[in-house]
Amino acid sequence: MQGSATGLAYRGRTASIGFARGPLVRVDASTTCERVAGTLVEEALALRKAIDLASGQIAELAAIAGGEAAQILEFQVALLEDQDLIEAIFSSIGEGNGADVAWCSALDAQIGDYNSAEDEYLKARSSDLADLRDRVIANLRGGEGRGPEIPGGSVVCADDLPPSRFLEIDWSAGGGLALLRGSPTSHVAMLARARGIPMVVQLGAIPQVGATALLDGEGATLELDPSAEQLRLFEQRREIHRKSRASARAILRRPTASWRGERIKLLINIQRVEDLDHADAQYADGIGLMRTEFLLAERGGLPDEETQYRAYDAVLRWADRRPVTIRTFDAGGDKPVPGFTIDGEANPFLGVRGLRLCLARPEIFTVQLRALARAAVRGNLRVMFPMVTAPDELEAGRKLFADIVQSLQAERIAAMLPELGIMVEVPAAALAIATFKAAFFSIGSNDLAQYVLACDRSNGALAPLMDSLHPAVLELIARTAEHGRRTGTSVSLCGDMAGEERCLPALLNCGLRQLSVNASSLAQIKHTIDRLSSGGGLG
Ligand code: PEP
Ligand code: MG
Repeated sequence: MQGSATGLAYRGRTASIGFARGPLVRVDASTTCERVAGTLVEEALALRKAIDLASGQIAELAAIAGGEAAQILEFQVALLEDQDLIEAIFSSIGEGNGADVAWCSALDAQIGDYNSAEDEYLKARSSDLADLRDRVIANLRGGEGRGPEIPGGSVVCADDLPPSRFLEIDWSAGGGLALLRGSPTSHVAMLARARGIPMVVQLGAIPQVGATALLDGEGATLELDPSAEQLRLFEQRREIHRKSRASARAILRRPTASWRGERIKLLINIQRVEDLDHADAQYADGIGLMRTEFLLAERGGLPDEETQYRAYDAVLRWADRRPVTIRTFDAGGDKPVPGFTIDGEANPFLGVRGLRLCLARPEIFTVQLRALARAAVRGNLRVMFPMVTAPDELEAGRKLFADIVQSLQAERIAAMLPELGIMVEVPAAALAIATFKAAFFSIGSNDLAQYVLACDRSNGALAPLMDSLHPAVLELIARTAEHGRRTGTSVSLCGDMAGEERCLPALLNCGLRQLSVNASSLAQIKHTIDRLSSGGGLG
């Protein structure tokens, strides 16, 4: 914290860029378990009612929010459907504990487990559990305890904020989110970024009482009761940000920038069909990466062939003639999938994940390849295998795929083998790139950097070392791009680096001419390439 003449300034970490000015509203829910308990039967009935009500509330929120938000809420629904957990809570009521005490202690134990996980992704899930705990407790108390009404345009401040609470807030009048703890990789941070709500996390302790707040999601600061000078500087920064966003969006409509006379193709990364609803997606040159493992997180277990075919077909229809690169399931590592991935691996990032896992589970892989082979006749489809180490893996995948196409054709079902490519994200694949007979390559810089630098990509403590601009990472990117140029094979980069302005000069200098980014970064990246190619520096 820094004191100033009249205002206080706090610094945290950016979770979503943008600016908000408004009253500071604290929304921490009370979780103390005070309630007068009834008989055993009354307590069990009260808890059943509170849980059913919570299920309905979450389902309603998911239906309104749709897309990624609905997927995030699935985690809470799955927990309410965990019979072992729920039965243990009812047994605890049977032993004489009040409904709220039984519920809180079971949920607190789960929250403790998630909080002690080393993996930052799992740690971030503890706020989803705290949300569920508080929702059921509020229902048990007849709706009390979900925090105050929030006036539009407020800077909402909480210790941490669960996704469902975020979705209940009316953000139509703007506003922002200031969290004392929280993480930039949490689900609520993803939602804030998708909706353009500025968000700063890890602010530490700040006063309880309301005040005028200035939240700067770029500088990661929160200023309270600002002086006239603080206000003036804040408005100046906000205006610069607004102008740069406006010119970036205007640039979207122009043909893609070129770099040293060569056209740069900008594609988008999607996880689900709904991501194509983003207003900027239409300006992309195609889809550079569809992460199909997110289909596995949807309700009802592993998706059947028809469900998958409909999803792939919808993406191809949206793209029309533009290329669509669909990546086969990249489950495992930081993306565990119950019933598919292997539990208890000592080191899941180096374990049976990506193509390794698919080849080990042909009964699951076959369903996906059948859906893809059928979709291939419907548009400009390219299929990409993730986490490939050796050419034999690519060839094993190709053979299985070709056999599947043959058997579909024998069944008189329209199908074809699409172009097959690989992710270049294992250092061995980048170093031995010439040994792969792939139709295209796409560099996964997120994993490539983690393996080259020996830094778990989800471990925040390693952030200073996890530098994707490290010369060793750039060397492998440049070698891959050079191999593509020499052999006339298409090479793109679809990791997060492609969406980071500061990385663009290095990526272009490495020889890359195709980048795939989230739709929300498309405008800014196009704008930056334009500026760089007309001789300007980074903004
Ligand atoms: C990557 O590793 O850079 C990549 C694009 O894939 P993911 O982030 O899904 O592992
Ligand atoms: Mg990867």
